[in-house]
Amino acid sequence: MKDNHNRNITYLRISVTDRCNLRCVYCMPEEGVDPISHTDLLTFEEIADFVKCSVSMGINKVRLTGGEPLVRKGIVDLVRMIKDIEGIEDLAMTTNGVLLKQFAEPLRQAGLMRINISLDSMDRERFKEITRRDELPAVLEGIDEAVKCGYEKIKLNCVIRKNKDEPDAVSVAEYGKLKGLEVRFIRTMNLVTGEFWPVDGGEGGNCSVCNRIRLSAKGDVLPCLFSDIGFSVRKFGAREAIKMAVESKPAKGTMSRTHEFYNVGG
Ligand code: SAM
Ligand code: SF4
Repeated sequence: MKDNHNRNITYLRISVTDRCNLRCVYCMPEEGVDPISHTDLLTFEEIADFVKCSVSMGINKVRLTGGEPLVRKGIVDLVRMIKDIEGIEDLAMTTNGVLLKQFAEPLRQAGLMRINISLDSMDRERFKEITRRDELPAVLEGIDEAVKCGYEKIKLNCVIRKNKDEPDAVSVAEYGKLKGLEVRFIRTMNLVTGEFWPVDGGEGGNCSVCNRIRLSAKGDVLPCLFSDIGFSVRKFGAREAIKMAVESKPAKGTMSRTHEFYNVGG
């Protein structure tokens, strides 16, 4: 699928929930957010049908994200449903890792290939300040479990304020080295002001090579994180919504007042 700027769109990121068990300061308010109602949330059948349609149009890589994907009930079943779709070459997930000890093995068995785990500091107090929850030990146990499960790739996502020399980032870099895991540093972005940067060691934030579309938890297909445009799958049907989203991909992102990282998946 080519967009109007000659970029080949092959990558779909799906936000499976807007709920989360952490409250990272750069992502969610302390009191949480009004969750999407159950009826507005896409069902697994709707998501799987959407993926099937997107694959028939040229998508071959899918990432599940959120909110926190592991708090969506039945997530292992969804992974299995997507893995079974012919044409999926890469199936990955971005998670905060809090529930990974329990889920790493069943997810791998269900066909998940790669995981990115968010980890912003190795200092328990700092982790608590950043995420407003005391879950560093759980995340580290989750990472250890994932390492045992034979994933094709495990990466750590570390959000930084300005640069990789900050003590939190240095601590995560050292931990990554110790565990043999690649670390990607992501500079804090701001959707409202449109401040975003290329992700160090990743493809995100570099508009000229952007090959993605997103599906939000309530079923809007989004051409760009830094744009307010979205096309409802329930209103237009998957094929039309995907077509419109691809056709409206901007050459470059600007800003968004309606999207949040927790509802469109970062
Ligand atoms: N809850 C999961 C997690 O944290 O990994 C998946 C969803 S989260 C929205 C996806 C990624 O977006 C995480 O790596 C997170 O650190 C990143 N993120 C969230 N808010 C951000 C912001 N304001 N700037 C840059 N990255 C952000
Ligand atoms: Fe939750 Fe991920 Fe947002 Fe943190 S970044 S509040 S873990 S969705």
